[in-house]
Amino acid sequence: MTISVLTIMPELFGSFLQAPVIARAIRNGVLEVKIIDIREYAPGSFRHIDDSPFGGGAGMVMRCQPVLDALRACNNKDRTVILSPAGKPYTQKKAHELSSAGHLVLICGHYEGMDARIYPHADEQISIGDYVLTGGEIAAQVIIDSIARLLPGSLRDESTQEESFENGLLEYPQYTQPAVYEGEAVPDVLRSGDHEKIRKWRLQQSLLLTRRMRPDLFEAHVLTEEEKALLAEADDSSFSI
Ligand code: SAM
Repeated sequence: MTISVLTIMPELFGSFLQAPVIARAIRNGVLEVKIIDIREYAPGSFRHIDDSPFGGGAGMVMRCQPVLDALRACNNKDRTVILSPAGKPYTQKKAHELSSAGHLVLICGHYEGMDARIYPHADEQISIGDYVLTGGEIAAQVIIDSIARLLPGSLRDESTQEESFENGLLEYPQYTQPAVYEGEAVPDVLRSGDHEKIRKWRLQQSLLLTRRMRPDLFEAHVLTEEEKALLAEADDSSFSI
């Protein structure tokens, strides 16, 4: 998969692309990330990428021409996304959907945003949350990171299949050594070696955690008969965290 990022701040991607999971995906050839400097498509020695807004008001607006020329230079793209606070909220489901694109283009805004005539050139707008960032680069990195870990060959041992959101629930609590830390013991079942009991305990914990922390997700989740039974047998002491 290729991800092209259109940005006026290419330097923000240096160390990001060296982070282990992303670097491994790139090294293993499952991911290519192209950082495209929008300024290189702006004419003249001033590389004029922004201008003041028609109608007045604070701040500057990114101009159509450099952004759209940079976008047109991206060959064989099959999905174009603009990062924007006005976009649809980003989800794990969307990460899966985008990960199947052969060539995804992410356009990062800055200043007060981009000229409104740029937006129809994208397939969609995505927001990473209800807050305003200075630029789209961190949002683009969130998307690249979440996609990279879904690509085969990017994670070493870990599986993404049981992670939060994959089955509509949050992931169960995890523990590691030591078995007792400051008097707090790891639940006995996790040390029992009984894989079926562990599976059921983890599913029950996922359900309890999701119901407590994310009632919106829990409401949307259609419970199986097994999940109903696990919830019915849970009491206040069942929740491990
Ligand atoms: N004036 C804009 C508004 O009120 O909606 C905010 C522009 S913001 C300062 C500059 C750029 O940061 C945006 O064009 C977008 O690319 C990016 N950005 C800011 N918040 C974002 C978010 N929550 N999700 C995705 N991108 C965001």
